Amino acid sequence: MNTNYIEELNESQCAAVTYNDGPSLVIAGAGSGKTRVLTYKIAYLLEQENGYNPWNILALTFTNKAAREMKERIARQVGMERARYLWMGTFHSIFSRILRAEAQYIGFTSQFTIYDTADSKSLLRSIIKEMGLDEKTYKPGVVQARISNAKNHLVTPTGYAANKEAYEGDMAAKMPAIRDIYTRYWDRCRQAGAMDFDDLLVYTYILFRDFPEVLARYRDQFRYVLVDEYQDTNYAQHSIVLQLTKENQRVCVVGDDAQSIYSFRGADIDNILYFTKIYPNTKVFKLEQNYRSTQTIVCAANSLIEKNERQIRKAVFSEKEKGEPIGVFQAYSDVEEGDIVANKIAELRREYRYGYADFAILYRTNAQSRIFEEALRKRSIPYKIYGGLSFYQRKEIKDVIAYFRLVVNPNDEEAFKRIINYPARGIGDTTVGKIISAATDHGVSLWAALCEPLTYGLDINKGTHAKLQGFRELIESFIVDQADKNAYEMGTNIIRQSGIINDVCQDTSPENLSRKENIEELVNGINDFCALRQEEGNPNVSLTDFLSEIALLTDQDSDKADDGEKITLMTVHSAKGLEFKNVFVVGLEENLFPSGMVGDSPRALEEERRLFYVAITRAEEHCYLSFAKTRFRYGKMEFGSPSRFLRDIDVHYLQLPHEAGVSRAVDEGAGRFRASLQQHPKAQIIAPSVPRNLKKVSTVSPSNGAQATSSTSASVAGVQAGQMIEHERFGLGEVIKVEGTGDNAKATIHFKNAGDKQLLLRFARFKVV
Ligand code: ATP
Ligand code: MG
Repeated sequence: MNTNYIEELNESQCAAVTYNDGPSLVIAGAGSGKTRVLTYKIAYLLEQENGYNPWNILALTFTNKAAREMKERIARQVGMERARYLWMGTFHSIFSRILRAEAQYIGFTSQFTIYDTADSKSLLRSIIKEMGLDEKTYKPGVVQARISNAKNHLVTPTGYAANKEAYEGDMAAKMPAIRDIYTRYWDRCRQAGAMDFDDLLVYTYILFRDFPEVLARYRDQFRYVLVDEYQDTNYAQHSIVLQLTKENQRVCVVGDDAQSIYSFRGADIDNILYFTKIYPNTKVFKLEQNYRSTQTIVCAANSLIEKNERQIRKAVFSEKEKGEPIGVFQAYSDVEEGDIVANKIAELRREYRYGYADFAILYRTNAQSRIFEEALRKRSIPYKIYGGLSFYQRKEIKDVIAYFRLVVNPNDEEAFKRIINYPARGIGDTTVGKIISAATDHGVSLWAALCEPLTYGLDINKGTHAKLQGFRELIESFIVDQADKNAYEMGTNIIRQSGIINDVCQDTSPENLSRKENIEELVNGINDFCALRQEEGNPNVSLTDFLSEIALLTDQDSDKADDGEKITLMTVHSAKGLEFKNVFVVGLEENLFPSGMVGDSPRALEEERRLFYVAITRAEEHCYLSFAKTRFRYGKMEFGSPSRFLRDIDVHYLQLPHEAGVSRAVDEGAGRFRASLQQHPKAQIIAPSVPRNLKKVSTVSPSNGAQATSSTSASVAGVQAGQMIEHERFGLGEVIKVEGTGDNAKATIHFKNAGDKQLLLRFARFKVV
């Protein structure tokens, strides 16, 4: 065994890494090295004599970011050459990859669309309307949650209808039509060649269940399956893991029941509790030493989680320094809370020389970010924010993407409805309604009905007919173009020829300007994506490739390695698995944290407490908690009281606020509070920046279309091992080796911030420094 393992792991971690005789479960508190164990275990499996090939290993993580970080860490151990072939990613991304390869088995094509939450809600709304149901009774969001819950329990419409009492409970009387909506929704997604996020799990399960030969192929390929954050898997995910590993029993999962925070998405804390029953030969490893946080932070977190009844008791200790008590701040208003946090950050930076990236502000709901953004901006403190409206959810971006989707899969119903009359081409709602009924009556897609109006009895006049055929020809011309154009060329063409760019350039209002800029950023993003894929050796990047890449982006994925020195603002949910030197947990008020949704459910309250445990345990050196006495919510000022969770922490580990400070805060805070109301009559969500480190390399204009002013600095011939280079995207790196000649010449480069990468020199965008 490589000596590194012994030096870099403690005894229990080492035992968990090297145990290879059957199923294993690592159950341990926050910061005890569970993710580290998984990472080292993979490296260990690869390095053993007669060991595993990278494609024999399937590692499932909670975010793409976690997968990327693990891969980079493993690459340092075994080289990128091997690490790149690991099957590592989120459940959704890995399963969508499998489904694209095997789509024909389950009646889809490999170009299937992935509906995001907004698409599926819009489809449900349309179905509810078509069925003549009342949207007030059948709220699309509620219906969506019911269907999602059914899917996460692997219940298809047939199963749902057969056992509706079990699935509907007290809802049955209130919403008797839910199962019919579900059936229709299911059929419509199929007709549209679309899957929603939950379908990615359901269809993978069905694929493996109904096609044993396919299951056998993947079971033979994935000789070892590893899962991080196992406490947050739902029934569907857990069942697929079981399908893959039941026979060979080579499975290792790690998790912490105290950090189970996704029951609203169907995650079941029992999965971890039952693991040993499902795999009777499981070897259980417990890790007790926390390597992340000071003793004070660990003890405070322990004292908090003890208050939960449902938990596996564990001892967690830290041998790091004792550290400072957890500071509690009381603010008069939410605005003052922002100021207090920003001032404290400035103070800590002065005192300890921390970088900005050493700080995180964690909140319960996305809407809380605005106050902190303002406080930070006022002091010119750089920050990055996750959540709110992501780039790909903005209207103008969704419009463009809808064109892309329709070109790749013309049956995509949501994309169709979105753009059939955008930009305006005189096709009204009545016509769209007729297309929908014709399609539904004949069980075909909207596109099919549009293409053959006579066959499907579409009752429209001549003028409308001409407009519809105009739209059809436009889309078909793009479909033809796909054969010899890459994603970037397609993107720029579509934006121009569809009339979108004309539409946003109609006037120079600030809204349109910002829409235009966003579309330009999208084009840059596509260009960037193509260039990156080329560097990696895939010269032909299609629109389908680009769509698959963005369909499963989550908020956290916008964190690129070169995102620079910035403070992180995020919800506690998205902070899971991460760590920061200094953490501020804010908004600790009743009805906010714990959330007002808890009501008097003890289970829900325990989940909120686990969420608070996750928040505190992100901190390595300093942790601060704050609350405000008044807060602007839902358009009015509310008075709050401190969260009960503050009382759950042993006071011994806290530094409580001084009353003297409070009275001063009242006066100052009130003034600022009023001023802020005048400045910001409405809450606004400030979206994160584009989720790639985009460089402006092209412009789009209505007259001449896109002109790629390629910024490729192909002047990298003659690069040698040992040289330092600076890459446009990955920053500084050292050339490790150069192989091949001519067009095939490639370099392996170790980047300071982005790990090891192999780049084809022909396409590489870096300069020697
Ligand atoms: P979480 O429950 O929050 O996901 P975790 O159990 O996955 O936490 P890791 O993130 O793997 O914990 O580890 C926490 C930190 O401790 C990391 O910075 C990791 O590198 C470090 N660490 C873990 N084990 C050791 C060790 N044996 N020696 C030194 N550092 C360690
Ligand atoms: Mg972890």
